Amino acid sequence: MRSVVRVLSTLVVISAAVASVSLSVHAQDTNEAPTTKSILGSSKLRVAIIGAGIAGSSAAYYLQHPELLNLPNNTGSDLQFTIDVYEKDAQVGGRATSRNFTGSNPANAVTVDIGGSLFVSANANMMALSGSVGVERNENPMSDPRIKPVDIVWNGRTVSCMVEAGSIWDPATWAARPDIASRYGGIETLTNKFYPAVGMFLQQFAPIYQQQGQWSSVSDLVSRLGMQPLLQTSFYDYLTKQFGVPAIFVDEVVSALTNNNYGVDARTIHAAAGLVSSIPIIDKMLSIKGGNQKLVEALLSKSGAKVRVNSPVVNAVSFQSGICNSDVFEKALEFAASINVNLAEAARRFLSCRPLWVVQPANGLPQLYDAVIFAAPFYNTPLLPITTRRLKVNNVDFKNLHVTVVTGNQRPSYYGQDNTVAPSTVWAADSANSRPEFRSMGAVGYVDDDAQGKTLIKYFSDAELSSAQIANMFTSASNVFRHKWAAYPIMSPANYAANGAGQLNVAAGAWYVNAMEPFISTMETETISAKNIASLMRQWFANLS
Ligand SMILES: Cc1cc2nc3c(=O)[nH]c(=O)nc-3n(C[C@H](O)[C@H](O)[C@H](O)COP(=O)(O)OP(=O)(O)OC[C@H]3O[C@@H](n4cnc5c(N)ncnc54)[C@H](O)[C@@H]3O)c2cc1C
Repeated sequence: MRSVVRVLSTLVVISAAVASVSLSVHAQDTNEAPTTKSILGSSKLRVAIIGAGIAGSSAAYYLQHPELLNLPNNTGSDLQFTIDVYEKDAQVGGRATSRNFTGSNPANAVTVDIGGSLFVSANANMMALSGSVGVERNENPMSDPRIKPVDIVWNGRTVSCMVEAGSIWDPATWAARPDIASRYGGIETLTNKFYPAVGMFLQQFAPIYQQQGQWSSVSDLVSRLGMQPLLQTSFYDYLTKQFGVPAIFVDEVVSALTNNNYGVDARTIHAAAGLVSSIPIIDKMLSIKGGNQKLVEALLSKSGAKVRVNSPVVNAVSFQSGICNSDVFEKALEFAASINVNLAEAARRFLSCRPLWVVQPANGLPQLYDAVIFAAPFYNTPLLPITTRRLKVNNVDFKNLHVTVVTGNQRPSYYGQDNTVAPSTVWAADSANSRPEFRSMGAVGYVDDDAQGKTLIKYFSDAELSSAQIANMFTSASNVFRHKWAAYPIMSPANYAANGAGQLNVAAGAWYVNAMEPFISTMETETISAKNIASLMRQWFANLS
C-alpha cells in the first residue's frame, strides 16, 4: 500500500513537473535555440543556489567566471548559466553579517561584524574576491587609537597575565617580561615551538589553491593535503606531544585562541582547526570595510544572479531515477497528455535521464533547475527531512554561541578587586576550578569623540549574558545587542570522523558547499569549497552526453 502511495505521489509530482517544464520553456526561450546542454530547453543552464552567505555568493560568482577556475582543457568553460539564489532571511550575508552601532551621534556609526569577522592575508580567495569586486579592505581592523590596548589572560577568577601596550603573542613582550616568559617555559615556547607549528600548517595548507576542481570530497582534499593526522588528534596533544609546547601555555593561552575562534578549548578542538585559529598570530588580519556582508552583496551583484530574499527553500528534490524508470515515465506522459502538454517536447527532454531539480520555496511556486548548490548547513535550514534523507550528508553537531555587543564603560574591578585597567582583549580559558562567563571578549570600536565616549565590547559566550552579568562588567551600558548563532560544527576529532567522507556531489546534479565545515569553518574555506564546486559542476555538465 505504501509503495502505491509513493508511486502515485511521485507521478503527480513528475507530471506537474512535466507540465511546468513545458510551460516555463515556452515562456523562456523565445529567442534561444534549444540545446542539448539544458534539460529545460534554454541555452543557459538553470542553477539554484540555496543560501546567500559567503558560500552561496562566491559559488555564484565563480560559476559565472570560468576563467578563474583553471578548468582542465577548458572543459565546460563555454557553458552559460542563469542562477537563482534563495535566501531565507530578509538580507544576504548569513553568518558574515554586521550591525551598525552609534552613540549620541548617528553620523559616527561603527560597523561591527557579529559573525565571521576577520580573515588573513594568506586567504588568497578572500583577497582576490574582495579585490576583483572592488570592496575595500580594512587593513587594521582591531585598532582604534582611542582604545588603549590591554591584553589579559583570564580564567574567570584570576588574571594570570596582563600586557599593556603590547600583545601576549609578541616575542618582544616576552623578552621584556620575564614573568610571562618563565610562566610559559621561556621565549622559545613562542618562537621555537608555537610559531613553527603554525607556520608549518600554513605551508601545508597552501597547495589547496592548486587543487580547484579536482577533489570530490573533503576527505579526498584532506588526504591530498596530508592532513589526516591533524584531524585525528586534539590541538592540545598535537602541540604538547609533537612540538613540546608546555601544557600550561596551551591550557591558559592557546585555549583562549580556540575559544575565541571556535568556542571550544584546545583539548576539544582538532589540530587543523586549532592551527587555523592561530594563523592571525603570525599573519596580517583584515576585514571588509563596512562589514563582510558587503563582499557577499558585491559577489551576488557581479554574478548577475537573481537573488530572492525572504525565500526559505523547504524542499528540493530531483526526478532522475523516476524519469529513468520507463513505467513511471510512461504514466507521467499519459498524465501529461491528459493535460495537453506537448508529449514530444517532454519526451525529448526527459529521455536524456538527466536529473531535473524542483526547488520549492516556502512562499512561491516550485521552480525547475538543471542543478542545485546547497550553500547552507543542512542542520540549520528549514528544509524538509525528505531533502536531507535523499542526499549523501552526515549529521554534525553545531556549536551554539551567543554574541553580545555592549556599548559602555567597563568596570575594571570585574577582573579583580585591585584591578584598575579595563582590558581591550580578554584571552579567556577555563582552569581546573574556574570558568569565565564568556569564551572571548574584545573591544571592537568606539562611539563618540567626546569625553563621554563609549567602547563597543564584543563577547562570545555559551549562554546568553544576562543583564545582571553585564551590570557586573560595566559601570554604564547604554546599549546591549544580542544574537544567538548555530555558529559552526564542533570541530573535534570525533565530529570530523562522524562527518564521513564529506561528499560534495550529494546527488546527481547537486553539490553541498558546507560539507567543508567539519574540517574547517571559515569564510575563506567556504569560498575554496564553492570554487571547487563551480569547477566540478562545469566539468560535470560538459561531460553529459
Ligand atoms: C560568531 C561567529 C564568528 C566567526 N568568526 C569568523 C572569523 O572571524 N573569520 C572567519 O573566516 N569565519 C568566521 N566564522 C565562520 C564563518 O562565518 C562561516 O564559516 C561562514 O560565514 C559560513 O558561510 P556560509 O555561506 O557557508 O554559511 P552561512 O553564512 O550560514 O550562509 C547560509 C545562508 O543560507 C540561508 N539559508 C539557510 N537555510 C536556507 C533555506 N532552506 N533556504 C534559503 N536560505 C537558507 C541562511 O539564512 C544563510 O544566509 C564565524 C562564525 C560565527 C558564527
